[in-house]
Amino acid sequence: MLRLYNTQTRHKETFTPLNNGQVKMYVCGPTVYNYFHLGNARPFITYDTLRRFLEFSGYHVSYVQNFTDIDDKMINRANSEEITVQELADRFIREYFYDADRLNIKRATIHPRATETIDTIVDLVQTLMDKGYAYEADDGVYFDVSRFKPYGQLSHHRLEELESSDREMSFDASDKRSRMDFVLWKKKKEHEPFWPSPWGDGRPGWHIECSAMIIKHLGETIDIHGGGQDLVFPHHENEIAQSEAATGKPFVRYWLHNGFINIDQEKMSKSAGNFFTVRDLAEHHDYLVLRFFMLSSHYRMPINFSAELLQAAENGWKRIQTCLDHTAFVAAHAPLKPEGEGIEAAASLRNSIQTYRQAFVDAMNDDLNTADAIAAVFELVRTVNTAATVGGIDQETLKAATETLHQLLDVLGLTETKNEDDDGIPFDILELVSRRTEAKKQRDFARADTIRDEIQKRGFSVVDTPQGPKVSVQ
Ligand SMILES: [Zn+2]
Repeated sequence: MLRLYNTQTRHKETFTPLNNGQVKMYVCGPTVYNYFHLGNARPFITYDTLRRFLEFSGYHVSYVQNFTDIDDKMINRANSEEITVQELADRFIREYFYDADRLNIKRATIHPRATETIDTIVDLVQTLMDKGYAYEADDGVYFDVSRFKPYGQLSHHRLEELESSDREMSFDASDKRSRMDFVLWKKKKEHEPFWPSPWGDGRPGWHIECSAMIIKHLGETIDIHGGGQDLVFPHHENEIAQSEAATGKPFVRYWLHNGFINIDQEKMSKSAGNFFTVRDLAEHHDYLVLRFFMLSSHYRMPINFSAELLQAAENGWKRIQTCLDHTAFVAAHAPLKPEGEGIEAAASLRNSIQTYRQAFVDAMNDDLNTADAIAAVFELVRTVNTAATVGGIDQETLKAATETLHQLLDVLGLTETKNEDDDGIPFDILELVSRRTEAKKQRDFARADTIRDEIQKRGFSVVDTPQGPKVSVQ
């Protein structure tokens, strides 16, 4: 039985999805104005691992991770580079997939962009207006926090405390009613992209994007919502307020939050300037070493980043690889049936495989304890290494050992997989193809055609076949 620590109840709870065998899961994705750093990578890797484990446990998982492709940071960076916000987004979404694919982060079922969700966002804001939870001010539409009584249920803050605290709030000259009220729709300013709305041209606030994308792609109630600890308040608190006020239904059943990566005890962040991008680190370490490093700690614990720790991860990773290579070699030369002292050793190895496999699953079931799961993998590696020195163990037993290792490593996303680019189609083209399919599904044929033109502009063609779209080099 899987147990997960729920931030909302502050307890480990037995996980049971709303619909038998089906899990609906959402993770806040990156704002695509730069390469992502190791701290940003932690939630992507953590929740990808949870998804893999859920699938391993027999669940079907619908997984949505968004791209925030419109906000102040996007606008500033695009303006400073003299490109459009969309060009900036396209570029760093490509760069996201470049790193994410190499970190073995599986593609989400859907990766929606905020700017593709404007209709749903406007509808949601309208619903909140109609129900009296939102009001229009000079510079935008705001959520009236005082109207939503359970506000603070996730972060365990009380509204009165928040209102009287000196917590630093984003400062604007708005005429909103309370400092805790947050923006749903920002009215247009000069040199900013905008979309039409009943409250005039403008763009969405950040919090409403996630609520809208969840409702649009997964429905009103989802099973798991993940993100970094820093998102608990106000982002996730606000997501709950907007969604539950609009739908009247429970929004999320299990809230999961991962810890930070610190450098010298300080959180790795772009604003603090103490960050390493995954792209830079990958020049010195294999991408999978970075993933292995991350999973060596429990996801809720902080990680203190250091070159020594990363080197230790690299050494551990090599030990596993060496074991796999060596055992495959020994198995190829082993007898078909166990013989001599191999008879007892084979029986003992078979037992160990069961024992450590179970230890691995138990650790993962205990709030995704990847640190203990990796310890079980190392125990198995040690046992296999010892067994491989005993002559007479049969091929089948040795193969079972390596297959189990591969299977467990695969749950952690640590097997070297061949990605879809086997036939020479780059990831960004495949990404465009899936966006086109999505557009067609939504009967947005104009958009589907624009995307097809973009694919052709980049030297590829796409044709629809009964088996799905087929891409080839032009
Ligand atoms: Zn979010």
